Amino acid sequence: MAQQIELQVRGMTCVSCAQHVTHALESVPGVEKAIVPGWQSARATVIADNQVSPTALIDAVAEAGYTAAVQKQGTRQSAHEDVDRRASDFDLLVIGGGSGGFAAAITAQELGKKVGLINAGTLGGTCVNVGCVPSKTLIRAAEAWHNAGHHPFQGVKTTQVELDWSTIRAEKDRLVASLRQSKYVDVLAAYPEIAFIEGRAVFQTDGSVQVGDRPYRANRYVIATGAQPRMLPVPGLEEAQPLNSTTLMDLERLPKSLILLGGRAVALELGQMMARFGVEVLILQRSTRLIPDHEPEIGRAIQDYLEQDGIGVITSVQVERLSREGETRVVHARVMGQQREYRADQILMAVGRQPNTANMGVEQVGVKLDNGGAIIVDPFQQTSNPIIYATGDVSTNPEFVYVAAAGGALAARNALTNARQPLDLSSMPAVIFTNPQVATVGLTEAEARTQGYEVKANTLDLAYVPRAQTARNTRGLIKLVADTATGRILGAHIVAAEGGEVIQTATLAVKFGLTLDDLTTTLFPYLTQVEGLKLAALSFTKNVAKLSCCAS
Ligand SMILES: Cc1cc2nc3c(=O)[nH]c(=O)nc-3n(C[C@H](O)[C@H](O)[C@H](O)COP(=O)(O)OP(=O)(O)OC[C@H]3O[C@@H](n4cnc5c(N)ncnc54)[C@H](O)[C@@H]3O)c2cc1C
Repeated sequence: MAQQIELQVRGMTCVSCAQHVTHALESVPGVEKAIVPGWQSARATVIADNQVSPTALIDAVAEAGYTAAVQKQGTRQSAHEDVDRRASDFDLLVIGGGSGGFAAAITAQELGKKVGLINAGTLGGTCVNVGCVPSKTLIRAAEAWHNAGHHPFQGVKTTQVELDWSTIRAEKDRLVASLRQSKYVDVLAAYPEIAFIEGRAVFQTDGSVQVGDRPYRANRYVIATGAQPRMLPVPGLEEAQPLNSTTLMDLERLPKSLILLGGRAVALELGQMMARFGVEVLILQRSTRLIPDHEPEIGRAIQDYLEQDGIGVITSVQVERLSREGETRVVHARVMGQQREYRADQILMAVGRQPNTANMGVEQVGVKLDNGGAIIVDPFQQTSNPIIYATGDVSTNPEFVYVAAAGGALAARNALTNARQPLDLSSMPAVIFTNPQVATVGLTEAEARTQGYEVKANTLDLAYVPRAQTARNTRGLIKLVADTATGRILGAHIVAAEGGEVIQTATLAVKFGLTLDDLTTTLFPYLTQVEGLKLAALSFTKNVAKLSCCAS
């Protein structure tokens, strides 16, 4: 019979360290598998035959330059034995094996509770498989390909290589598989106490959860079943077969032209990515502007930049039906009262996501949903059934992976202890990975006024930021919203290359109640994009065009 040894490992400081330790442990004869769930975990799980002594493992780790100590040694149980033993006896049952569900299950296990994790479909859920990871690596590939033909210095000649989409797609799949393995499969294996149950969970009227033909019971539940692409309920879907974000990133061949329905984060990211790969892109947006929940200046700026990139943008579009003429797809729409038809090789529907609550039986256990089918949660992530919590895209929380994970950890803690900790979203950063990126935190000017603040707000053109000038990319702006009475920064709204990096400094400012003066009296390194925040703060009191170098 195999044994399982848990080691504490000291001295790992990077990803390669985790690989060295894994390799060292797996080189010990008799070791079947060694799992290091990231160097930060400072731990390793070893599955080995019974002949392997802990000393041999400790010596192997020492020889690789690290220190190990045994934390636990026991007989290895298969996942099924584990489930059978605990089937009706969980402290917490988590439904959904994405980032929200993993955070909940790991937190509960670290609290010493008996945890079950149920997942249907590919382990890891949306972010790693069909969301953040594949989209961001493809966006990077598109940018690199586009930049190869566009040198920032005027007049410099460039050569554009031929686009190799099939290699790019394969590389994307390779990265997804590797991150799924290291961030989900290996991590789950490193927590053998978490009973993993594969299959679709459905709540029953008696409060249990059915997976296949087996019922499971727990004292508390966390639902983290995520969401899937939403389709506009218009006639012609069957005929036109529009793409969604998942199928678009898996296309075998890129289309020549693409119509994009939608004007928010996923639509803009994927639309610009396709345009940079050379696809002719037209965005049809229902609202009067793109990203309508952002500051109006931001929506206008990003529309200008997309149009400069050759992307067509039409707003106030009411899609009425879709159709197909041979290989051409047609969108029939009404724009400002006029009937219009738009044609392209493919249509991408990026009109939001549908929470995965259908046919899950949540209504029969008293869990209330909003009009869009999302589970209504309070700040403690509790649903209308006090023993059921929810997190992530299935809930009314904002749809970001870090929010899903933070909510999952909190849901587990609140469900299993007296913590009663709320999820604080007042300083939640949000990034749209277009080029330039859109990055925001805190209140917009209008929201701040609605909340009763006397507001002062200023917008700095990125042309005043030395980093942007030297990088020959001054597309963008930084808008700061502050409380007039105290100077406290209430919100920051940025369009800039690498705006996603800049926003984190603004996030700390909003979270910890910093003022405009705090920013202007802090040293910012010269020739960084984040220096723009200091310049934006200075612009409240000075004419930044008259400043010498270094924003003082
Ligand atoms: C194209 C795209 C790009 C994105 N980019 C970003 C980004 O850059 N940054 C960012 O923060 N966020 C991004 N997101 C959003 C992010 O991916 C999600 O917010 C996050 O993955 C949600 O995690 P979750 O745990 O709530 O759900 P998921 O990760 O979807 O996990 C849910 C799991 O539950 C399973 N499941 C569903 N129903 C059942 C059932 N009845 N029984 C058992 N299991 C079930 C599902 O199969 C899945 O495995 C992006 C999303 C998309 C689509």
